Amino acid sequence: MNSVSFPLSKRATGATSSVIREILKVTERPDVISFAGGLPSPEGFPHDQIKAAYDTVLTQQPKVALQYSPTEGYRPLREWIVSDFKTRGVDIGVDNVLIVSGSQQALDLIGKLFIDEGSKVVLESPSYLGAIQSFNQFAPTYATIPTDEQGLIPDGLTDEIAKDARFIYALPNFQNPTGRTLKLERRIALVKRCAALNLPLIEDDPYGELRFEGEALPGLYALSQQHGGTVIRMGSFSKVLAPGMRIGYIIAPEAIISKMVQLKQATDLHTSTITQMAVYETIKNGFLDTHLPQVRELYKRQCTYMLEALDEHFKGIDVQWTRPTGGMFIWLTFNEQVNTTELLPRAVEEQKVAYVPGQPFYPLAEKTITNHLRLSFVTVPEAKIRQGVAGLSQIFK
Ligand code: PMP
Repeated sequence: MNSVSFPLSKRATGATSSVIREILKVTERPDVISFAGGLPSPEGFPHDQIKAAYDTVLTQQPKVALQYSPTEGYRPLREWIVSDFKTRGVDIGVDNVLIVSGSQQALDLIGKLFIDEGSKVVLESPSYLGAIQSFNQFAPTYATIPTDEQGLIPDGLTDEIAKDARFIYALPNFQNPTGRTLKLERRIALVKRCAALNLPLIEDDPYGELRFEGEALPGLYALSQQHGGTVIRMGSFSKVLAPGMRIGYIIAPEAIISKMVQLKQATDLHTSTITQMAVYETIKNGFLDTHLPQVRELYKRQCTYMLEALDEHFKGIDVQWTRPTGGMFIWLTFNEQVNTTELLPRAVEEQKVAYVPGQPFYPLAEKTITNHLRLSFVTVPEAKIRQGVAGLSQIFK
């Protein structure tokens, strides 16, 4: 990027473009098969229903849809979320719900709410790159707790790590980047531990609805209603409808929602009125009950194709990978000599395949870990999955 000749804020000077965004630029080239972006499959976008919903909203309520609206969000949509959670046994009221412009905005608001320069933030390691990038704006220090096949290890939240921490950020379902899911005993242990420490627990769950195998586990917010503590839950319509609509939500105690409303007001006044109304119009009569099973079926097929392609083409290579039961990602672990960051340009130039190196998913202190990569199995169709995985294997042979 060209540099500017006048002083910028420390925040802007320190900001770097996300590696994912840089890679997405390359992957706009039609000759590159990209497993890099966290892009949901466009085959799962219900465009006819969404078009009809915008039409209805603009025909029936144009003056409301095109007007400013409350920061808290469109009330019928918030009420829908309340009743959706009731069906899962979670008891919330409309004042516990704030609609945001994608859950990425929720991350920004969490940062604004909790982080002063130097504040300690606890992450699981690795963690969602977009969260790290968002929190980095507020210059925190990080502490991490380790993860294994079953997700983060609650015992890793020691007194020392928790000391003076502002919050812990956790991804219980089909984690981005590893695709791993936190098992039930650990969910309970984590919620209880955070309650005992009086440490806010941020639950980011955009992929929970994309389970294509096995039983859904109770979320951390739901568990906090039994076991105590403060959980702030972030949800999103990006993966269940379409990410371009940019509609997400936060569920939290009323006092936290009120503070976040003030912070959001300063950021964007409110999330798009017309789009909130269109989302509500699309889902209000149980649309997701028929739509989601189709998306899950599609993602299951795509995941199976990729796992089969990995089994076939990565045979004989010193590597292991996760076998997710939902979500969008598979995480590959090579031996420690392999540097996936350095190999990426070769993968793109020689084999026309892109992935996301593991490195940026680790917060600052662990940036030396280079032997992982993330593949999305949902973005490209079957034939290209096979072709892309075959090409990728050539780089690691
Ligand atoms: N959290 C996680 C873990 C994600 O993977 C993503 C999207 N990649 C987001 C939040 C942001 O999603 P959105 O803003 O589209 O709701």
